[in-house]
Amino acid sequence: MKAEIIAVGSELLTPFRLDTNSLFLTSELNQVGLRVAHKSVVGDTPDEMRSSFEHALERADVIVSSGGLGPTDDDRTRQTVADLLGRKLYRDEEVLRSIHERFRRFGRAMPEINERQAMVIEGATVLKNPRGTAPGLWLEARGHIIVLLPGVPQELRALMEIEVKPRLLKLGIPERLYTRELRISGIFESDVEQRVSSLYAQYPDTETTILAAPTGIQLHPRLWSDNPAKAEATLDELVKRMSLALGEHLVSTRGESLEQVVAQLLTENRATIAVAESCTGGLLAERLTSLAGSSAYFVGGVVCYSNELKTSMVGVPAELIESKGAVSSEVALALAAGIRKRTGATLGLGVTGIAGPSGATPEKPVGLVHISIADEHGPRETPIQLPGDRERIRQFSAQRALNLVRRYYLFPTLGRA
Ligand code: ATP
Ligand code: MG
Repeated sequence: MKAEIIAVGSELLTPFRLDTNSLFLTSELNQVGLRVAHKSVVGDTPDEMRSSFEHALERADVIVSSGGLGPTDDDRTRQTVADLLGRKLYRDEEVLRSIHERFRRFGRAMPEINERQAMVIEGATVLKNPRGTAPGLWLEARGHIIVLLPGVPQELRALMEIEVKPRLLKLGIPERLYTRELRISGIFESDVEQRVSSLYAQYPDTETTILAAPTGIQLHPRLWSDNPAKAEATLDELVKRMSLALGEHLVSTRGESLEQVVAQLLTENRATIAVAESCTGGLLAERLTSLAGSSAYFVGGVVCYSNELKTSMVGVPAELIESKGAVSSEVALALAAGIRKRTGATLGLGVTGIAGPSGATPEKPVGLVHISIADEHGPRETPIQLPGDRERIRQFSAQRALNLVRRYYLFPTLGRA
């Protein structure tokens, strides 16, 4: 069965607000076996709202809207849907009492305009809102289910979980969505695609989305099925083949973050780590401290942006910076070895690079980054050339540095980032 989501709100058509409710709704609808085939964002204009609902009625079994149930003139979802279905609105005295009651509890008198929120479409079931004044409405019309929910995210979430999902579960849809989440680091999106795309045709029941971010590439194979055991087995097999194709670049298969994988490796090896970072400006330390319990392995670090600090805090010889330049293999090696020595950590990480847009030379272009790791045998590094603007280069650099720690443990002979 197909579902459609309509996000109502003129603010969602400005550059300042994004419709995030539909992401949550999609996840909830999937959990009861409903596939979202369309979603739309529409302003508070009755004609346009009407056209969105009309389209949805042509193609979806279940329609869920968010927003436009407020007390003001621009909240018109109730009226629009009532008009479209040829039904009347009436004032529900019980809803009105509960709105009065809610205001009383917060020590306020109910403004007259809130009476509008007690208007109910004929034949609708009122869904009590535990977090706000506007109730949701559940309607069955022309063979469709229409659910109107308020736009405030926390109210929408509560209503969806408490009132809507149990009712949708009663539809008894046997299908469920089965998914996996593979995380990949160290190669670009097009390389990932090239490695795994030949598998898509061999698993025609599955659909795989690829998501690229500076924190790594993700592959999400998905499968709709009414047979849990078969679905899991198919996904297991596909994931196994994807893993083989991705090789050492595969970070995890159940959505574990690179931070989690690195934390586990450091913990298993009873190791500690310290960082000396230049172009990442603290991003690396931020990520290494993002998990609870990180004090067990993260010692600390230095954001040594200036050459003077690289020397005074991390012990990089001034002559080395002078002769090789701050962005060089030699300085990266000295950063990793230096921070390791000064902190007594098991491992030292060093990052230096050109995030741009200024500071590049013909030999050292924007995006050139040196990342190094040092252990008791000394430091090692390889230069990498990263694409993108300043922000992306900084994020990528932190990612590659973390990935270097993963590779250090899992693929000791392959030392690249
Ligand atoms: P309600 O039906 O609860 O009265 P509304 O549309 O009348 O909702 P608004 O004042 O438009 O209420 O929105 C309330 C808050 O919820 C605003 O901060 C708005 O940005 C946010 N919001 C509305 N719709 C969405 C959405 N689809 N995704 C994320 N936030 C949303
Ligand atoms: Mg609105």
